Amino acid sequence: MKTIAIVGASVAGVRSAQALRAAGFDGRLTLLGDEPHVPYDRPPLSKEFLAGSTDEAGLALLDDEDLAGLALDLRPGTRAAALDTAAGRVRLVDGGEVAADGVVVATGGSARRLPGTSDVEGVHALRTLDDARALRAALAPGSRVAVVGGGFIGAEVASTCRALGLDVTVLDGLDTPLAPVLGPTVAATCVALHDDAGTTLHAGVAVEGLTTAPTSGGARRVTGVRLRDGREVPAEVVVVGVGITPNTGWLQGSGVKVENGACTDDGLVTDVPAVVAVGDVARWCRGTSTHRHEHWTSAGEQAAVAAENLLAGSTVRTVAPSGYVWSEQYGRLLQLAGHPDSRDAVEVLHGDPGERRFVARYVGTDGATTGLFAMAEPRMFGRLRRTELPRRAG
Ligand SMILES: Cc1cc2nc3c(=O)[nH]c(=O)nc-3n(C[C@H](O)[C@H](O)[C@H](O)COP(=O)(O)OP(=O)(O)OC[C@H]3O[C@@H](n4cnc5c(N)ncnc54)[C@H](O)[C@@H]3O)c2cc1C
Repeated sequence: MKTIAIVGASVAGVRSAQALRAAGFDGRLTLLGDEPHVPYDRPPLSKEFLAGSTDEAGLALLDDEDLAGLALDLRPGTRAAALDTAAGRVRLVDGGEVAADGVVVATGGSARRLPGTSDVEGVHALRTLDDARALRAALAPGSRVAVVGGGFIGAEVASTCRALGLDVTVLDGLDTPLAPVLGPTVAATCVALHDDAGTTLHAGVAVEGLTTAPTSGGARRVTGVRLRDGREVPAEVVVVGVGITPNTGWLQGSGVKVENGACTDDGLVTDVPAVVAVGDVARWCRGTSTHRHEHWTSAGEQAAVAAENLLAGSTVRTVAPSGYVWSEQYGRLLQLAGHPDSRDAVEVLHGDPGERRFVARYVGTDGATTGLFAMAEPRMFGRLRRTELPRRAG
């Protein structure tokens, strides 16, 4: 293999470049990213960057030395339009093309929006650096912020906005936000952090739409969120955190199967030889189940496996992610590892959930530990992770 194109220049793309070079690939390596920025990290966007304690330089995924060491043909602001696998080419929106004997699909996902709100001022999503800049600029002192969606990103935005002294309301359709990921017991402890910090949570509610008012310039500006039960939550800023849609449009006609992501085998290899997929966009199959992880650590773990298989020309290694996820909310580090089922029992191993400092294990029906969760206990989490989850489960 002489040329490899990685499409998508975020963490999955960058980790793929590093893994390919580490595995000995010495051919031409092109990294295409449609955003105009050099590769940057997303997790701080809802935390330190939004709070103003980290600047853009603090987000960089690669410094000049890394770039030189990788001998990377990095092309920011370059959008792939199509993949022509027969010709071994990635076609670009600007009319150009990139030769690629091998391709890494690392195009991630785009934030879902509320229908009909794209032209309403004051409504934000948070996926990109540009989104984060716009949201940060909108958080004027005294603003009321409504966060639609109480998942990890919504909760982090709420937490940061509270720390900035703003009036914050979180709206979620579930009775216990985060329960599908953390199970109801652990999720309830996380959700309680909102209340502790003075954030209003409306759980189990359906959002009907936004209330708006005309601006002097003839546009519409948000004034609040209307719930299906008739209530209205007034807000000058609305942040929508309702998940992502995988970026797969450019794969149409390529032969790569697309179904809620780019479908792969359990080694991240697609149906098309010499095309692998990694990160948020990849949906891999194991037996009858399929997985798509939207988490930072998983992107790096997948990149190492995909690089090895791409260079080998077939699946020689399967993906076995650690399931590690972290979040920071209201000054507390939340950590999860393993692959718990949301119905698993929960046993506290250390600390006290009432004190908002604890480590708990998830217990499967056979009594085995399926996962580990910690709130504000990173050291104990690290120690117990080694004993409770000694082997990485896929
Ligand atoms: C605000 C925020 C906070 C987060 N916090 C955490 C956290 O605390 N812990 C955690 O585990 N995870 C966190 N995540 C999730 C984590 O950042 C993602 O899992 C990770 O970014 C996925 O990386 P990726 O490279 O697969 O995809 P993405 O980051 O989505 O990157 C894909 C890139 O490909 C580009 N692209 C798309 N289509 C094309 C095309 N046709 N041509 C060229 N380029 C294209 C996109 O513009 C994008 O730059 C957070 C995410 C966000 C948004």
